[in-house]
Amino acid sequence: MVNIFHEIDGDLSILNKKTIGIIGYGNQGRAQALNLRDSGVNVIVGNIEDDYRKIALKDNFPVYSIKEATKKSDIIFILIPDEIMNKTFKKEISPYLNHKSVLVFASGYNIGFNLLKPPENADVILIAPRMIGVGVRENFLKDEGFFSFIAIEQDVSGQAKEILLALAKGIGTLKKGAIMITFKQEAELDLFNEQAFGPAFGRVLLSSIYTLIDAGYPPEAVLIEMYLSNEMSYTYKKMADVGLIKQLDFHSQTSQYGAMSRGIRFRKLPLKDKMMEILKEIQNGEFTKEWEKKITKMKFKMIKYFATKQKINKLEKQVRKNLKLKFYDIYEEESLTEAELTEFKKKNSDEFKLFEEYFE
Ligand code: NDP
Repeated sequence: MVNIFHEIDGDLSILNKKTIGIIGYGNQGRAQALNLRDSGVNVIVGNIEDDYRKIALKDNFPVYSIKEATKKSDIIFILIPDEIMNKTFKKEISPYLNHKSVLVFASGYNIGFNLLKPPENADVILIAPRMIGVGVRENFLKDEGFFSFIAIEQDVSGQAKEILLALAKGIGTLKKGAIMITFKQEAELDLFNEQAFGPAFGRVLLSSIYTLIDAGYPPEAVLIEMYLSNEMSYTYKKMADVGLIKQLDFHSQTSQYGAMSRGIRFRKLPLKDKMMEILKEIQNGEFTKEWEKKITKMKFKMIKYFATKQKINKLEKQVRKNLKLKFYDIYEEESLTEAELTEFKKKNSDEFKLFEEYFE
């Protein structure tokens, strides 16, 4: 059985007289800094000159450059985007670390896939909330907590576990439960969710939408039925609250019978094979290697270009307007120059065609 830690397992006193530096006052940074301070811990912030810095000052934190905050801190939370973490770490953090620093990550990606090399004399730990930043704060204030995955990569001090559990308590995750896994497992689970479950679910959603629209139902009604009503998010919440099957009880008898009796017709979809293929690519590092390549950034831009051109985008824009829903500027097509398109087409003609057709 996996190790699960609760409130009783964390002792905040180990953090007495320690300075915690939160590097990056963004989604996670702000929530975790506020929670730790409310738990009585001494917190400072290190951030670049941007709007987040202003928010940190408004929240009454001492704010420094990343370099200065690193110098002043015993425990450093690295809460900047994973994509730029390694570069910033090498330049702004690593050279200014104290002799016995504790490095805390909120994602296993860079350490798990050996993209970031921490110094040998530092403790390296992970607290990865299964919750967006706003939720981390809200659930702390509600005294409910949230789940997290935690891990220890390096324990130089011999106290990494105590420090990890104290910090986890301070952030508020132990109220719900923190599950000890490894950095790599955390990253793999996260990537799998994004790369297998997310796209498969998206395909099912789109197939349903087009089945109904092609059958003549008004797009407004279809999108409300499928997701705009928010009903599905309640079902999801009930799955978490009472159980995957048990949540059926919140639906009518007709709904339950219909779902279960028809569900069996989808049993032969080759989902598991595809998912296993994706999981293997994640586990053996193939995905990470691909994402690290320079050409992939261009491929990413190209895929986004096709994705934002998808007809569902135009349809949804009109539907939202008709339903008088708030308009977000999310329908702008990703811009790609003719030269970029031609270059990509030349270099990767098969992939180009594939994505062009897929997102049609
Ligand atoms: P954000 O996108 O909110 O960015 C955090 C901060 O980093 C911002 O202040 C941002 O400023 C700053 N930043 C961006 N680029 C640089 C740079 N080159 N140098 C220094 N600072 C920079 O990050 P998140 O909070 O979303 O993610 C932080 C960590 O938490 C990641 O490891 C992520 O995987 C993990 N995580 C995130 C979750 C989430 O809900 N978002 C959930 C669980 C874990 P600006 O935007 O102005 O550039």
